[in-house]
Amino acid sequence: MDNTPQPQETLSQYVKRIRTSLSLSQNDLATKAGIHLQSLGKIERGMTTKLNSKSQRGLARALQVPSEYLDAVIRGVPMSATDVLKFCPDCWTPGTTLEEIWLLPRSQFCFLCGTALRNSCAKCNEPITSLKFRFCPYCGFPYKASISSESQSQPL
Ligand SMILES: [Zn+2]
Ligand SMILES: [Zn+2]
Repeated sequence: MDNTPQPQETLSQYVKRIRTSLSLSQNDLATKAGIHLQSLGKIERGMTTKLNSKSQRGLARALQVPSEYLDAVIRGVPMSATDVLKFCPDCWTPGTTLEEIWLLPRSQFCFLCGTALRNSCAKCNEPITSLKFRFCPYCGFPYKASISSESQSQPL
């Protein structure tokens, strides 16, 4: 299942698509996400286009997607499966939000320092799914760290 936001996809379309693909009813999703059924109804009818951070976290958890994906649909920033969650290993501070320029599909290098942007773990190469994490959930390697020679040739 492709759970990355599609270009032009709105919050309502995205939430409905992921919920359906998980075979959840609106009721199931609202319960899992800890939000009111009415609020979810408004989101899916396109009447709510912004979420507070608590609802966003709950919804992301219930839909099993990174909170950043919801961020992207809400802000209308296009994402594709290969261009998600890039960051500069030198400038990014774990736990903070990303510079939007890093997330642009054509950005390959940091606009601040010229370092190659990274979108996967330097050690095991698993894609980064949430920048709320400081360490790779697959191998425990810190996202900001580099493996000296290997990281240089790491394709984006
Ligand atoms: Zn940088
Ligand atoms: Zn890893």
